[in-house]
Amino acid sequence: MNEERPGRNDSLSRAGIEPTLFEIGRPGHGGYSLPRPPLPEGADPIPGELLRQDAPPLPELAEPEVVRHFTRLSRLNFSIDIGMYPLGSCTMKYNPKICESVAGRRSLQSLHPYLPASRVQGVLKLMFDLEQYLQEVSGMDAVSLQPSAGAQGEFLGLKLIAKYFEKKGERRRKVLLPDTAHGTNPASSALAGFEVQEIKSGEKGILDPRVVRKAVDEETAAIMITNPNTLGLFESQIAKVAEAVHEKGGFVYGDGANLNAILGRARPGDMGFDVVQFNLHKTFSTPHGGGGPGAGPVGVKQKLVPYLPVPRIRLSEGRYLLEDNLPDSVGRVRAFYGNFLVLVRAYVYILSHGGDGMKEISERAVVCANYLKERMKERYHVPFDGPCMHEFIATDKFQKKQGVSTLDIAKRLIDFGFHPPTIYFPLVVHGAMMVEPTETESKATLDRFADAMRQIADEIQEDPRRVQEAPHSTPCGRINEVVANRFPVLRWG
Ligand SMILES: *Cc1c(COP(=O)(O)O)cnc(C)c1O
Repeated sequence: MNEERPGRNDSLSRAGIEPTLFEIGRPGHGGYSLPRPPLPEGADPIPGELLRQDAPPLPELAEPEVVRHFTRLSRLNFSIDIGMYPLGSCTMKYNPKICESVAGRRSLQSLHPYLPASRVQGVLKLMFDLEQYLQEVSGMDAVSLQPSAGAQGEFLGLKLIAKYFEKKGERRRKVLLPDTAHGTNPASSALAGFEVQEIKSGEKGILDPRVVRKAVDEETAAIMITNPNTLGLFESQIAKVAEAVHEKGGFVYGDGANLNAILGRARPGDMGFDVVQFNLHKTFSTPHGGGGPGAGPVGVKQKLVPYLPVPRIRLSEGRYLLEDNLPDSVGRVRAFYGNFLVLVRAYVYILSHGGDGMKEISERAVVCANYLKERMKERYHVPFDGPCMHEFIATDKFQKKQGVSTLDIAKRLIDFGFHPPTIYFPLVVHGAMMVEPTETESKATLDRFADAMRQIADEIQEDPRRVQEAPHSTPCGRINEVVANRFPVLRWG
């Protein structure tokens, strides 16, 4: 292959791990056989000036070469089906295969979104029932399944609030956000046209109702709160915080991405939340590494119901209908009815666990996190050392003296076969490692993780460079992430 060939920039190829298809391919080795186009003899439907002069430089390979290339690449990936993935806030739990099996059914996959309601009664029932289950789990009065992600659910929730005040003729521009908020919260607020005002959390990592009371006024449209918050702590003052905001006529938005911690045990609707989004891909299990797919349904209290997106699913005299004609609705937030196959997975997940199963999920998630926190404390600084919920924060404070940081520790963990935790988030904790084991890990796995963390801490005492230069076992070593971010190579050649 000549030097100018595409693929020269591919780092895996340069490291000698897996050549690109362009490098493996050889002229004449193509494994396809396309039928001749059904045109009359001699006919040329494309005008000569539009035809390319040379054949495109596509690689030519036989089928086994292609299959082996992609299979080898897939084995370089880490996934939840290979090992523990304690990525805090992301809830990377094991995804039961029964959900995949049902979502993979041809009858569901080949549905056309324009089929009339009368032909898809079973599908509408599934969605209607899922709305009911989510209402029950959250303590809300109605649910829309439309948004495609948690962040889009946040955006919709804030749009509903904006529409409410617009209808009332009130001008409220402000959204209050705790300093532990997930990055999507300020982004969604700004996108929905609000100004963000940050609120400092108290000493113990949770909101102080007195601070909220001072910040909230007649300009406040809403406060956005994650409970438990991103430090893994339950906002125990939530009722008082909600009261302070409600007294001034504002709404309490619940970022429901951390629902895994309280599933079946406590309900956002009972804590004073007026609107909440669910991250079905997290709590209700859909594989979601690498940015998709997801679903972020939104649940609301009565006051916000008239503004929900259309179409709404209705049950009337035993028939399911799609109702489009709702004058106060904010309209659609996506095409058709939501990320349907993610909804199917959530439906199967809920039914296969049942009510008691829901409780067991959150109980185990919390027990696993607390167990791991106690074991991590053997070697790492844990800034909020009370009981945690489904995740906890450790830091690199003890390791800093040896010149080793959270990033180094995370990279070294890869050598032990674990995905690193979320790092440097939340921003309020210096050198944070945010660990969320989830309920699907066994005690043996949690112990292996804790042992690896302990071994890394010991290594840092004896030979810090071993950790600073990690990972040692991966196809590529330490990557310069700044360069990768600033100068991404998105094309070949
Ligand atoms: C994941 C997450 C979000 C965003 O959800 P996406 O589905 O990724 O858009 C928002 N808030 C918290 C606390 C999260 O963990």
